[in-house]
Amino acid sequence: MTSLLLKGIEKHFGSVNVIRGVDLRIDDGEFVVFVGPSGCGKSTLLRLISGLEHISDGELMIGDRLVNEVQPSERGVAMVFQSYALYPHLTVRDNMGFGLKVRKVPAGERQRRINEAAATLKLDALLDRYPRELSGGQRQRVAIGRAIVGNPDVFLFDEPLSNLDAELRVHMRSEIAALHKRLSTTMIYVTHDQIEAMTLADKIVVLRDGRIEQVGSPRELYERPANMFVAQFIGSPK
Ligand code: ADP
Ligand code: MG
Repeated sequence: MTSLLLKGIEKHFGSVNVIRGVDLRIDDGEFVVFVGPSGCGKSTLLRLISGLEHISDGELMIGDRLVNEVQPSERGVAMVFQSYALYPHLTVRDNMGFGLKVRKVPAGERQRRINEAAATLKLDALLDRYPRELSGGQRQRVAIGRAIVGNPDVFLFDEPLSNLDAELRVHMRSEIAALHKRLSTTMIYVTHDQIEAMTLADKIVVLRDGRIEQVGSPRELYERPANMFVAQFIGSPK
């Protein structure tokens, strides 16, 4: 379990300021949800945390390490994307083991971790299939499995369920909640779905134009939204 600290985080693309002074503390094992309208900077913030984008200004601590200049593979984070990003020519087993192989984890240990993750995600029977032979929900499970096998300190999810139909989304939502309960790993989860945010989050971060509007528990935001923007976004009656 690992805490994160964001201090004055900025991201500029050329002359455009996309993230504008974000300060945030995320505690060990917390489930934090980023919400906000399309284009407000949710994905960019995740990519800054994962190291896929370089931070323009400010400090990012993961655990007790300043990681601004640390490579993505050395940050102890794993990211799950909306698009799944599975390799079409690899089986489920090899998709899940790919990152471990790159990191030269020995074959026996690799298989042990794959089997364990497969059991957690009910993928045991699917390990020899190819992505094209899987449903959307199964593919999303494989993408989560690929994150789990690396034993990350922090999971980052970028709208992982938005390609699924409504019924499956509800089902996967409770699977992700169960996974968090089981692993107690720090999780940061981006969604534009209020219900997903309200049901999953210990803490919700409402973003608007690259800034934080409000941070609080689902209940705090619902009962005491800081302004109309938050109220409308969270769907509180005010
Ligand atoms: P969200 O995930 O909340 O929808 P994003 O983080 O994807 O928002 O994008 C935030 C803003 O940053 C958008 O205006 C987007 O166009 C811009 N942006 C994102 N990535 C880049 C990039 N690589 N170059 C230039 N602008 C970008
Ligand atoms: Mg996005």
